[in-house]
Amino acid sequence: NDYKTNVWVDWCPGCGNFGILSAMYQAFTDLQLEPEKTVVVSGIGCSGKTPHFINVTGVHTLHGRALPYAEGIKLANPDLTVVVNVGDGDLLGIGAAHFVALGRRNADLVVIMHDNTVYGLTKGQASPTLTRNLQPKALPKPNIQDAVNPIGLAIASGYTFIARSYAARVQHLKEIIKKAILHKGSAFIDVLQPCVTYDNIHTYDYYNKRVYDLQEEGWDPVVKTPEELPQKAAQALVKSYEGDGRIPIGIFLINPNVPTFEERYSQRLPNYLKIPPSRESIEADGKPVITTEKFKELFRKYVI
Ligand code: SF4
Repeated sequence: NDYKTNVWVDWCPGCGNFGILSAMYQAFTDLQLEPEKTVVVSGIGCSGKTPHFINVTGVHTLHGRALPYAEGIKLANPDLTVVVNVGDGDLLGIGAAHFVALGRRNADLVVIMHDNTVYGLTKGQASPTLTRNLQPKALPKPNIQDAVNPIGLAIASGYTFIARSYAARVQHLKEIIKKAILHKGSAFIDVLQPCVTYDNIHTYDYYNKRVYDLQEEGWDPVVKTPEELPQKAAQALVKSYEGDGRIPIGIFLINPNVPTFEERYSQRLPNYLKIPPSRESIEADGKPVITTEKFKELFRKYVI
């Protein structure tokens, strides 16, 4: 595989992360993404290692801060394809404010959340997606907090492509990743990812018995007009609460009616897409093009 690096993949044998990595290799191959025009960004945790294993540009960032890094990369270089790999603890714990902010902006990024309900790298503490009263084996007592509903939070935040897949359904996940990359706007994929070392509840057997494909049951995720959004979003929200007995995977919502953050910027800065920040000169004749005073003036004029 052209996208495979020679770095040893040191996840625990059987970890769901292998399925996610495999789906990414296949999706990138199908789309023939150019390595120098593709960036994989991660936060901290087991999922944080993903950029080391994929032969594109990669950035392994800080806990909870993968999204601001990714947004900065995309805004400075709007031609790049930017894919974020992040854990459920990282994204919905310390990084939750950034998750909400990205939905509101609709920057053209893909966020793949490795959802294993625990903090695997730090030995299995409860993450924000673990249901209250469950007790995976590393917890001394059952979880005392309620779980966040990631799909519901994505809907409320304004993400324009919202899906769920399962690490053991590699073909399904591959197709979802491809669609998310081709979508213009913020795309969120919640990937059910068994942690075979610390979560003895959400096993492959657990998910195999429960997951079903929304699209196979005729679910239509597309918001055809802006007026249709409240009704479609409400339906998707109700669907996102389905769980335990049956767990839906597939695309919950696609809303193509919202401008991307890059489009919004180009309305204010007419040359933004033609000469984005990454291609601007920062000096002329040995002097900075923009002084602090000039920067403040431009900021007041175009941003505030
Ligand atoms: Fe995977 Fe869990 Fe091992 Fe981390 S601790 S590599 S999530 S099985």
